[in-house]
Amino acid sequence: MRKIAIMGAGQSGLHLAIRLVKSGYDVTVISERSAEEIFNGPPTGATYLFHDTLQLERELGLDFWSDTAYHSTGFNINFGKPDGNFAFGISSRTSKPGASIDQRLKFYQWIKLFEKLGGKFIVSDTTPSDLLACTAQFDLVIVSSGKGPLARLFTKDEDRSTHEKPARKLVQLHINDFEQPEKTKFTSITLDALMGGGEIITAPFYQKDDIQCSFILIEAIPGGPMDVFDEATTASELLVKAKEMIRTYLPWRYAAFENAEVIADNAFLKGSFTPVVRKPVVQLNSTAAVLGVGDTVILNDPIVGQGGNNASKMANAYAKSIIARGDKPFDVAWMNETFEGFWDYSKYVNRFSDIFLAPAKPHVVEVLGAATQNPDIASDFVNGFNHPPALFPWLDDADAAREYLTAKMRSAEPVM
Ligand SMILES: Cc1cc2nc3c(=O)[nH]c(=O)nc-3n(C[C@H](O)[C@H](O)[C@H](O)COP(=O)(O)OP(=O)(O)OC[C@H]3O[C@@H](n4cnc5c(N)ncnc54)[C@H](O)[C@@H]3O)c2cc1C
Repeated sequence: MRKIAIMGAGQSGLHLAIRLVKSGYDVTVISERSAEEIFNGPPTGATYLFHDTLQLERELGLDFWSDTAYHSTGFNINFGKPDGNFAFGISSRTSKPGASIDQRLKFYQWIKLFEKLGGKFIVSDTTPSDLLACTAQFDLVIVSSGKGPLARLFTKDEDRSTHEKPARKLVQLHINDFEQPEKTKFTSITLDALMGGGEIITAPFYQKDDIQCSFILIEAIPGGPMDVFDEATTASELLVKAKEMIRTYLPWRYAAFENAEVIADNAFLKGSFTPVVRKPVVQLNSTAAVLGVGDTVILNDPIVGQGGNNASKMANAYAKSIIARGDKPFDVAWMNETFEGFWDYSKYVNRFSDIFLAPAKPHVVEVLGAATQNPDIASDFVNGFNHPPALFPWLDDADAAREYLTAKMRSAEPVM
């Protein structure tokens, strides 16, 4: 039985581990924290997952919350002008539902399942020297430690990395409207953009203590009007600042947040990071190498909610490549091929994220403007979050956008 070690018990590592153990591999997950420490630890990114990713989890029996957590199909994208006026908005439905489950609850349950299935779970903070020792004991060592320090062992891919500094300052809170707890106002996923200021993303969130609430993720352009959170140190203070900022710059959206309260004062994320693509393989010596997965090697800003989706899809692609390899060695050439196979998909994910992080180009504004009038275009756009390659080439190229819009307008004309 082939022996695989996975460093890091998160979205990609646990998905890969469970997929492989179910396929008969001898899998060991090495995690810096126990399942209980993860459950009781600080919150992670909200990680709204779209349908294709949820389907991969369903295949593995990992969708423990399909009956309890709110799954949404509503999707709104609104744009506000810097003077506080509403510019335009798109509303559509995704063809299949998505959901956001607190990763602390998810990872806790997944670790328990992994152990039940016969996987080995070791609590240890992996160091670079541990990696070398592991390569002697395992047929393959995969690093899934997220954007933590171990990722820095992987060289930045200068050709594929498009950022030198964080594009946004992030604040995430778990909130509820306790005046109407049975009827949360955030049943859809909504992205409110303030032109030149940043974005606010809200969606239903199933919190680890079985509370169905919502998350609010604020993506503030550094130095811009939404960048107001530096002094706030608790979730309540952050929410007060957020409400002030929304009332001033997005007054047309304020009513939705007016009665919001935080779920817990210590449940927030605040910080920033630089999106990066890294080379997928670290050669530890002339014969030993390890392969990276998830945020360790492809780290995107969460603006279009792709990191967790990508992490699971990459784990699935790696599992297929491992199984297809049979008894042949997991050499460096195979590792690079495995990553490149996934990059063929992720290059669209990365570009989609970058298009949203940059000021909108005229053809993007044209497409979004057309989507306000044409439900078919709005539907194509919101469903593209589930599978970003479907948004190309028209989201990235002015000529392709024109062709796409012409075809859509033609098909919308009444047949005489
Ligand atoms: C604010 C915010 C909001 C987000 N929202 C979304 C969203 O809506 N949709 C979406 O798809 N994605 C979202 N993401 C991104 C998503 O959370 C990540 O992309 C995803 O969790 C990455 O999975 P991963 O397996 O690479 O890493 P992680 O899930 O971070 O797992 C890494 C694990 O490795 C462990 N570890 C670290 N170092 C070591 C070590 N040395 N030894 C052993 N273990 C170690 C960590 O404790 C952790 O458990 C968001 C991110 C942020 C920051």
